[in-house]
Formats: sequence, C-alpha cells, structure tokens
Amino acid sequence: MDLLKKLKSGASKAADVAQQTVEMTKLAAQVTVRKREIDKYLNLIGQEVYEARAAGDPSLAEARVAEWCGVVRDLKETIATLERQMRYLRNEKACVCGKAVPVDARFCPACGRPQVHESRDVIELDADAGPEGGVGAGAR
Ligand SMILES: [Zn+2]
Repeated sequence: MDLLKKLKSGASKAADVAQQTVEMTKLAAQVTVRKREIDKYLNLIGQEVYEARAAGDPSLAEARVAEWCGVVRDLKETIATLERQMRYLRNEKACVCGKAVPVDARFCPACGRPQVHESRDVIELDADAGPEGGVGAGAR
C-alpha cells in the first residue's frame, strides 16, 4: 500500500511538472503573439508618419499614431503580466535591473543589488552594497 501511495505521489509530481511545462509553453506563445502584434503596430505607425510627411502635413498622422501607441502600450503591459506569471512558475522574480532572479537569492547575479524577500524578514543592507562588498561576505 505504501508503495502504491509513493507511486501515486511520484506520478502526481510528474503530472505537476508536465502541467507547469504546458503552462510555460502557453505563456511563452502568448508573449510571442503580443510581440508580433507590437511589431505590426510599430510598422503601421512608421508608415503613417512617413505618408503624412510625404503629403506635407505631419499632423495628418497624429490621431492614428496616438491610437496605435495606446495599443502598443497595452500590449506591453500584457507582456509584462505574462512574464511575471512565467517568473512565478519558474520560482523567480524580477530585479529592478530587469533580470530574473531566483526568489531566494540575496543579490542579483546580474547587477549585484540586494534582493528584498517578501516571505521572510527583510535583512538590513547598505543601499549601495555592490557585488564585491556584499556577496559571500558574512552571508550564510
Ligand atoms: Zn539586477
């Protein structure tokens, strides 16, 4: 019976991992679709600006360009949300520098900034503690 339980628990862990992989693939596909959309709108904006200039009145492009810039902004916000979900699934969070950092990392491997942990008590650190000063020195 114990063996059966173990097998079941192992199988459900594998199922969780598979489910997570499916989720990641879905999210990555959604990001790709949005990025293509952004390219499409940026291209349209460029054409609109060019044609208005060619026609001698750049203001002709203004209304459409403003509308499409709004669409691009919304798409970028959606991508940011999707990327946040992907980081969550990977057990990562974003550093202020924009790089992904493991949730339990004390410092960003890219820029060396100290990382704040929401789940634990915040460790008091010098705001300007660089990568040389902080990592390893006295940590754990
Ligand atoms: Zn960083």
